[in-house]
Amino acid sequence: MSKPKLIDENGLRVDGRRPDELRPIKMEVGVLEKTDGSAYIEVGGTRIYAGVIGPREVHPKHLELPDRGVLNCRYHMASFSVDERKPLGMTRREIELSKILREALETVVLLEEFPRMMVDIFVEVIQADGGTRTAGITAASLALADAGIPMTDIISATAVGKVEGTLVLDINEFEDKYGEADMPVAVAPQLNSIVLLQLNGRMTVEEVERGLEMAQAAIKKIREIQVDALKRRYRVEPEGLEA
Ligand code: UDP
Repeated sequence: MSKPKLIDENGLRVDGRRPDELRPIKMEVGVLEKTDGSAYIEVGGTRIYAGVIGPREVHPKHLELPDRGVLNCRYHMASFSVDERKPLGMTRREIELSKILREALETVVLLEEFPRMMVDIFVEVIQADGGTRTAGITAASLALADAGIPMTDIISATAVGKVEGTLVLDINEFEDKYGEADMPVAVAPQLNSIVLLQLNGRMTVEEVERGLEMAQAAIKKIREIQVDALKRRYRVEPEGLEA
């Protein structure tokens, strides 16, 4: 099959977006009853639940640390979340992404606040259409906040891609598959630090710099949606003002 056209004559992408446009995003906090904290995120066709359990006693016991808590993270894709059924067991990709997500989240979680305890984070991709690691980390941050885990910041993330030489924001699966590069970026905005940065494919230094600027601008919007989701869950309406 010849390579499909990814940018049309009007400069628009396969799904009609401008290069710097995010897909429609929905977030909700406190969606699962059997967790201590949870969140749901939709970014275009990507749909993910994140659940947090803990802090609780460490199992197995030998992993316990005397001066800080332990963070566990499991990123998992449902078999039915992708076009070609994913194998039932954890793939190498899922094991790698679990580690990457944990390392990024560890930068904001105040582990010293819960020594000898552990917190489990589950990221369950139920439908994948590109950007699952970035949507996953965004949802996991909300689930941690919902569980009341002390943190210095909430992480927000998106991916910048390169298709037909054009930098595009929040790439979908099709663009990821047929484009030239994919650069996931996760930021702790309040700390002004990048906590996850990867590059799959090739970009020039100048493209990486411009891509980071695009990601930073988008992350401001993503953070607003996160804050709004938290407010909807936790805002207490003054008495007498309820509809
Ligand atoms: N994907 C898939 N099968 C897999 C892994 C990924 O169909 O086993 C698709 C899925 O839509 C995913 C996209 O390819 O979102 C890009 O995957 P990548 O590994 O770049 O991670 P992501 O962009 O989801 O963080």
